[in-house]
Amino acid sequence: MIELKHFINGEYTKKEENFRNIYNPSKQKDIGTIPIASEEEILDTIKCANEALKQWSNTPSEKRAEYLYKIAQGLEKRKDDIAKNITLCMGKPLKEALLDVEDAIACYSYYAESSKDIDAENQKIVSLEDTDYNISKRYEPVGVVGLIVPWNFPTVTTAWKVAPALAAGCTVILKPSGVSPIPEHILAEISKEINLPNGVLNILYGGANLAQELTKSEDIAKISFTGSTRVGQELTCISAPSLKNLSLELGGKSALIACEDADIDEVATLACNGIFFNNGQMCSATSRVLIHKNIYTKVLEKLKQKVEELKIGDPLDMGTDIGPLSSKKQFNTVCNYFEIAKEEKLACLTGGKKLDGNYVSPTIYYDVFKTSRLWQEEIFGPILCVNPFDTIEEAIIMANDTEYGLAASVISKDQNQAISIANSLKAGIIWINTDQIVLPQLSWGGYKKSSIGRELGEEGLNSFRELKHIIMPKEKY
Ligand code: NAD
Repeated sequence: MIELKHFINGEYTKKEENFRNIYNPSKQKDIGTIPIASEEEILDTIKCANEALKQWSNTPSEKRAEYLYKIAQGLEKRKDDIAKNITLCMGKPLKEALLDVEDAIACYSYYAESSKDIDAENQKIVSLEDTDYNISKRYEPVGVVGLIVPWNFPTVTTAWKVAPALAAGCTVILKPSGVSPIPEHILAEISKEINLPNGVLNILYGGANLAQELTKSEDIAKISFTGSTRVGQELTCISAPSLKNLSLELGGKSALIACEDADIDEVATLACNGIFFNNGQMCSATSRVLIHKNIYTKVLEKLKQKVEELKIGDPLDMGTDIGPLSSKKQFNTVCNYFEIAKEEKLACLTGGKKLDGNYVSPTIYYDVFKTSRLWQEEIFGPILCVNPFDTIEEAIIMANDTEYGLAASVISKDQNQAISIANSLKAGIIWINTDQIVLPQLSWGGYKKSSIGRELGEEGLNSFRELKHIIMPKEKY
């Protein structure tokens, strides 16, 4: 049993009175505890982060970048340990958890490289063409930031926020999800090993109350939240009195469109990967697949074959494709959708069953009517809904008929056709003829109720910075 402690101002707190268990969904047993932050601990942390901000925001950008490189190296050294703990906490197959750690390393390295010249850029004075003025364009850190993350990609979602925040010169209060806190605790250990200055990265554990207190605080400049749309909406209301700078990465119900000319095997492979990776517990999961009517039957046959070949088992086994769902709560949510599917009389191609423990069978429903709850709602589990379409126009209307707009995929041998479809989709990330590739230099985020703002890339860095213009008459210099 591991007993995690808050990490405040470079120190772990002493023994806590209020705590919650950390659960291993594969073995169905508790493996540790996290403390629940008290009012006093929250206020104390906010104070320390503000104190540390004075020095960190004035630390040369090259020096801040060096710390980010060191975090990347620390993650590299502890890769196996972190991946194993991701798997133990939320049941993700180990082979996927290892990819997660690599993504996090790539993110810290990217922001180290792309932020080291911030100071040099800030010092430039340029002549503004066709005017009488010189200008200086400066980017400055927003201040202390509260980072609230979910359980489905621990280490990765955290990296997407911590790396640009530290690069920009902000100090951080991180609130991991109670489901998967151990990987984030390892980040505290790494920050101690590399002598990151005290108070620059603080980690507090707790539930809704902690996230809400951080969001209310007048002494925190920004909240960056990843989680469900419902909680994002709640935090938006709570943040209103302080008019907080708020970034939100929320739910999704992404579509995959397979055109008439698409290769049958490729459609089945990309569709399976798009929904069954991480057991469907992905905001970008392509949970609605639209297939041209002329290839529909053949794709369904191939999909059924591929899904039934997936290996369900112990997530620590490198051969496992499907582990348990992340928690009892998630298991109950997914099983409830099996019941709804029965009530809605949906046709099941494969799966639709509870298995032992927190496991469910990967599932496909087909010919799903458009007002079905399974077609409309984010399930966050291994359930795919499939429908045929006749014309491209019809496919685009069906794909866009959702309150979400995070991602989408298109499969076609005709690149012009695929790009034209991509241009018509209301989503922030579109993959054409490829798996869900995520690159730190490109942005992440979407339309409608999926996001406010963007993470990763330059947009991700700018979301932690304020822009200042200084204007000076040319004649005086
Ligand atoms: P969640 O909204 O329940 O929790 C997210 C975070 O908020 C956690 O740290 C949690 O402790 C905290 N929280 C929970 N209830 C709260 C409340 N009432 N007030 C304040 N804070 C609260 O989400 P989850 O179940 O951890 O994660 C799944 C959701 O996250 C899905 O909807 C998924 O689509 C979304 N997600 C989105 C992205 C993205 O990039 N768009 C990435 C990953 C996950």
